[in-house]
Amino acid sequence: MALVKPVDEEFWKINSGFGNRRNPFPPPPFKMHNGIDLATPIGSNVYAVESGTITKIGITPSSGLYMIVDHDNNLESRYAHLGSFKGSEGDTVNQGQIIATSGNSGNTTGAHLHYGLRKNGRFVDPSQESLYGVNYRRIFTGFAAAFAIYKYIIPYLEEKRAS
Ligand SMILES: [Zn+2]
Repeated sequence: MALVKPVDEEFWKINSGFGNRRNPFPPPPFKMHNGIDLATPIGSNVYAVESGTITKIGITPSSGLYMIVDHDNNLESRYAHLGSFKGSEGDTVNQGQIIATSGNSGNTTGAHLHYGLRKNGRFVDPSQESLYGVNYRRIFTGFAAAFAIYKYIIPYLEEKRAS
C-alpha cells in the first residue's frame, strides 16, 4: 500500500537528505543520515505514514522525543525531534492519523521533523516519491490544462492566424 506523507504537503521540504552528510556535531566529520529532515515548524501535525502499531516511544539526547511505528509488512517508520506524542506504546494507528506534533527536541540545528523508514531491517530513502500515493489532484490539473490548450488555445491561435 502506498504511504502518505508524515507532514502536510506544504512542509514536505527536505532540509537534509538521506545518506552520508557532514555531521553538524562532529566528530566524526561525516555521518550516515538514516532519514530525511523536513522543515516543519514546532507544533505541526505528524501523521502515521501507514497503519500499524506504535512500538516505541522514547527520548535520547540526539533524537530527542521519538516514536517508532511498525507496519507489519517489514516496514517501520521513525519520527524524531518531536514536541509531543498523540498515542502510547502498543496503540494501533490508522494511516494518516495524527501520532505526534513536531518540535525541536534533542540535538538539532533548528526545528524539524526527522523521518526515517526501515524496510526489511535496512534504512531506505524516504524521499522517493514512488513510495507515496498518486497525487490525483496534480494529474487532474495537468489534464485540465492540456485539455484547455487543445480545446481553446490552439483553435484561438489558428483562428487568429487565419484572420
Ligand atoms: Zn535527521
